Amino acid sequence: MKRVVFREERCKGCELCVEACPEDIIHLADRLNANGYHPAMVRDEDQDKCTSCGLCARMCPDLVITVYRPARVKVS
Ligand code: SF4
Ligand code: SF4
Repeated sequence: MKRVVFREERCKGCELCVEACPEDIIHLADRLNANGYHPAMVRDEDQDKCTSCGLCARMCPDLVITVYRPARVKVS
């Protein structure tokens, strides 16, 4: 499951989330969104590196980002 989901069509490519991520896993996509901006993204292979710290979502002025935390599973 993805930990970080972007509402790509709302992103204006300001890179505040890119700067905020301590794991350095957010970058702008090569493609353009419907408004002509390069949208922020986390590659599928980098999703597991996300610690769900939520800093990116807090920094985004346009409410583009939703961060999920893995459910705790009781093992004993
Ligand atoms: S939740 Fe934290 S680690 Fe995950 S992408 Fe956002 S800033 Fe980076
Ligand atoms: S902070 Fe928000 S608007 Fe700016 S690049 Fe990141 S997701 Fe896009």
